Amino acid sequence: MSQIAVLAGDGIGPEITAAARRVLACVLPALSFHEAAVGAAAIASHGTPLPDETIAICAAADAILFGAVGGPGFDGVRPEQRPEAGILGLRKRFGLFANVRPAQVFAGLEERSPLRTDIVRGMDLVIVRELTGGLYFGAKTLGLEAGVMTARETLVYTADEIERVVVFAFELARGRRKRLTSIDKNNVLVSSQLWRQIVAERAATYPDVELEHMLVDNAAMQLVRDPRRFDVIVTENMFGDILSDEAAMITGSIGTAPSASLGAARGALRFGLYEPISGTAPDIAGTNRANPAGAILSAALLARFSLGEHSAAAAIEGAVAAALARGPRTADLCAPGETAATTSSFADAVIAELANARARVPARS
Ligand code: NAD
Repeated sequence: MSQIAVLAGDGIGPEITAAARRVLACVLPALSFHEAAVGAAAIASHGTPLPDETIAICAAADAILFGAVGGPGFDGVRPEQRPEAGILGLRKRFGLFANVRPAQVFAGLEERSPLRTDIVRGMDLVIVRELTGGLYFGAKTLGLEAGVMTARETLVYTADEIERVVVFAFELARGRRKRLTSIDKNNVLVSSQLWRQIVAERAATYPDVELEHMLVDNAAMQLVRDPRRFDVIVTENMFGDILSDEAAMITGSIGTAPSASLGAARGALRFGLYEPISGTAPDIAGTNRANPAGAILSAALLARFSLGEHSAAAAIEGAVAAALARGPRTADLCAPGETAATTSSFADAVIAELANARARVPARS
């Protein structure tokens, strides 16, 4: 029986994670769930954002279903004692190097996009961001050098770090529309030259995948000019951080976007942490108003990447798309005056769509 660690965290985390867990249990009833504390909730209960007990529960699990961490009251607190240290610690502890961020415009939600509907209708791309290397993790110094305040950052990538995320992206593209865009800045950065060289070498193993290289500044423009031209994008840490937020904004709603942070392959599966891209939304926490779609779609990614349950994943994704199209939607997606679904009633609607889809499949004789 597969084991799922449930780290709901803070703010809306518990509400949206409960919704995702219900949907997941509905399609995969044999799963075993184990709750553990993280973030500000863990600071309150255990005095630390990532208790040893939580790490042990995650280490014994096949995947982590994660809510969100953070909240008011931590200004000026040391980084390792802030709620965010919970998630950074998990990424490091479990070597979660591939951040997968799908960005999809669902039917019926085209009007939510800040771009014209004819530009975004049918947009369906995935950004694979390298998560553990690059500028964010290199040595940093800030201080006086020859009498001048100077800040230094170091951008380091090894060939192995590039290779593993690039291979993951090629495999992902092979299972989708077979187009991979590798984004770099190879006209300026030597790290990008190494990146491009490794992508080009690996491309020989994937002749069925159409590869293009694109400079990051051009990619930022192409994403708003014609987002539908992209299938899978792979890029380094900082470029991926920026472009994935741009892509999420194009879909028009932060509440519907899922993510997966994946570690090394274990056979056909990977250990991973699955969370919606949004934060703890303190302004609506505890009101049953948060949109759980991003959390539920993250649970679908969990089923796909950590459990190999591809049809369960597709069933969840189809049910979320159907519930969003049919409505009612949560308040973040409603026009003024429209009746909104609650967090729990939207999860009910997804579960009803799953039942509808099952009823449509003729029983085998
Ligand atoms: P946020 O994503 O929490 O909220 C931004 C806005 O979007 C708010 O108006 C909120 O109500 C709305 N929103 C977010 N998710 C929603 C949902 N599912 N349904 C409906 N509306 C939703 O971003 P923020 O306000 O900048 O950050 C709040 C806290 O979350 C901070 O402490 C921040 O550090 C933390 N945070 C955590 C994570 C994480 O755990 N991975 C990620 C981002 C931010």
